[in-house]
Amino acid sequence: MKSEIIEFRKLLEGATNIAIVAHERPDGDAIGSLIALSLSLQKAGKQVTPILADGVPTRFQFLPGADEIKRTFPIECNLLIVLDCSDVVRTGFKVEDLPRGVDINVDHHPTNTHYGIVNVVDAYASATAEILFDLAEPLGLEIDSRVAMNLLTGLVTDTIGFRTTNVTPKVLQIVAQLIELGAPLAEIYERALNRRSVTVARYWGCGLSRLEQEDGLVWTSLTLEDRQHVGYSGKDDADLINLLSTIDGAEVTVIFVEQPEGAVKVSWRSRAGLNIAPLAEAFGGGGHHQAAGAMIVGDLEEVTKRVISATRGILESESETSR
Ligand code: 5GP
Ligand code: MN
Repeated sequence: MKSEIIEFRKLLEGATNIAIVAHERPDGDAIGSLIALSLSLQKAGKQVTPILADGVPTRFQFLPGADEIKRTFPIECNLLIVLDCSDVVRTGFKVEDLPRGVDINVDHHPTNTHYGIVNVVDAYASATAEILFDLAEPLGLEIDSRVAMNLLTGLVTDTIGFRTTNVTPKVLQIVAQLIELGAPLAEIYERALNRRSVTVARYWGCGLSRLEQEDGLVWTSLTLEDRQHVGYSGKDDADLINLLSTIDGAEVTVIFVEQPEGAVKVSWRSRAGLNIAPLAEAFGGGGHHQAAGAMIVGDLEEVTKRVISATRGILESESETSR
């Protein structure tokens, strides 16, 4: 057994009140992993509080256990676990607002800074949910049907429906086991990935109407005014980036989402073999080789110019090296 898992087990044994937190603006892997670990630790007799700084988006409220998620830390906490976060700031909480130092860090981002006492970080894992599935047996945690449904949601969403290059035969074997344990794949796929509201379709329309393309680069923006105009309450791109990245010839796709208070959320997607994580890191963000993001201070036009210019640079240097 790997030493981190032995340490993980020891820390769990000594803990009674556990707080678990995943990243801000949570996606299906953050939420699914958070609920799955919380439910299985509760079943093992622990007092567990699952926390998300931004709460649970409507899309994921169907998940069993989603209603237990809080937005603040409990008073009592003798173990802090952070999931799916490359650094502590990603939790959406300031370091000084955390109830204690991070005890356990479980993540699959290559940009992870190993900020925990115990760090279970595997950049080859397709999702944090995959790591948690592997940890269940050595940690002695049960995967019941509710846990299975949450883990499968993490896998389905982070692989965009098993379309990313990190989907291995092992991932699909885990999927098969989760289905056997009671996770409804078709329902998860439909609710967590496919289904859109009319509002989201209209919001996409705003971004699609301004679509730009220049060689292998495809980008667009979503403004505060767009959100007000269509009545979209989120601060994100409603997954428009994943639609843009299906455009033929798009080597790199970028989306700019204007935020209140003078910032822009930028998301990048790149084709297999083109690593854009360092670029996101250079702008203060992080992520995976093919999917990365950053929150950048500045107005929409100025941030767009800077980011497109830097992204063009990456594409140009890549085409030179492959020549
Ligand atoms: P998205 O662009 O869809 O929000 O995120 C794509 C990937 O980049 C995710 O794996 C996410 O964890 C990472 N990411 C997005 N925004 C940030 C950010 O502001 N900071 C860091 N460290 N990672 C980010
Ligand atoms: Mn993830």
